Amino acid sequence: MASHRLAKIPLKYFDVTGYSVAGEETVVAVPQLDCCFDIGKAPDQFIAINHVLLTHGHMDHAAGIAYYLSHRNFDGHTPGTVLAPKILISPLEQIIEGWGRLDGNRIPANLIGVEPGDEFAIKPNLFAHVFSTPHCRGSVGFTVLEKRKKLKPEYRKLSGPKLVALKKQGVDIEFHINLPLVTYLGDTGPMDLKGADLISHSKVLITECTFYEEDHKDRAEAGNHMHISDFARQLDELNNEHIIITHGTQRTNLTQTKKILAKAIPQAWQDKVHLLMDREYLKRPSLTVEEKT
Ligand SMILES: [Zn+2]
Ligand SMILES: [Zn+2]
Repeated sequence: MASHRLAKIPLKYFDVTGYSVAGEETVVAVPQLDCCFDIGKAPDQFIAINHVLLTHGHMDHAAGIAYYLSHRNFDGHTPGTVLAPKILISPLEQIIEGWGRLDGNRIPANLIGVEPGDEFAIKPNLFAHVFSTPHCRGSVGFTVLEKRKKLKPEYRKLSGPKLVALKKQGVDIEFHINLPLVTYLGDTGPMDLKGADLISHSKVLITECTFYEEDHKDRAEAGNHMHISDFARQLDELNNEHIIITHGTQRTNLTQTKKILAKAIPQAWQDKVHLLMDREYLKRPSLTVEEKT
């Protein structure tokens, strides 16, 4: 039996699936992009996903890393790739090595330290772009983007054979565009999103919003997390097709959270903002967002 009961939100381009409760566990995957953001307690369902993009070292996001790697080895998978902030690589190596000694079997791992501004190839046209987040030392977020080649406007009217001939002459007839598909912020305080085009134009934005009640504002600020008032304010800067909220506190129940959320955001956003842990997505995972509305 699978280790986790996961939420699943089927969207036009891909599914977003996972589990996320503040302080307990956060792991969010986009299986079609072969990416798992944070690893939580390593759900069985995500062991075969080849890339883990770790945002920071807090236990609720990173505890399962050795289990994920060990289980992959056991199942005959390659070690896959774990991207993590550079400052976490040495402690991660120590933990994985320690678990290998406890377990009696060395755990193969491919850990890559990343810094804001880095871009890492996941597939030939798919890249993970790294940016910093205001949460804890070294914490990062990731945008998974597709790079597409486009013909430069001045060559668009030329015939196929002429274009081939130009290419053979070494003329650079194409340019690249970045198409941001999904951004995962991990844990974060409010961010300045002006000019952060990859984040604000991602088709899907996965963001935390931990606190909802008025008297929880101090908690949000103290832990570098988002309060619903921060989230609502940031909407002005965002152009995403869907926003998925993770990392809700257990201090506020789901019914209350949904009520406060609906009140806080403008009408235009109501159908585009989803709580990952909404009962709809946990109970009836095959239901699509379009069907629901
Ligand atoms: Zn957390
Ligand atoms: Zn955290």
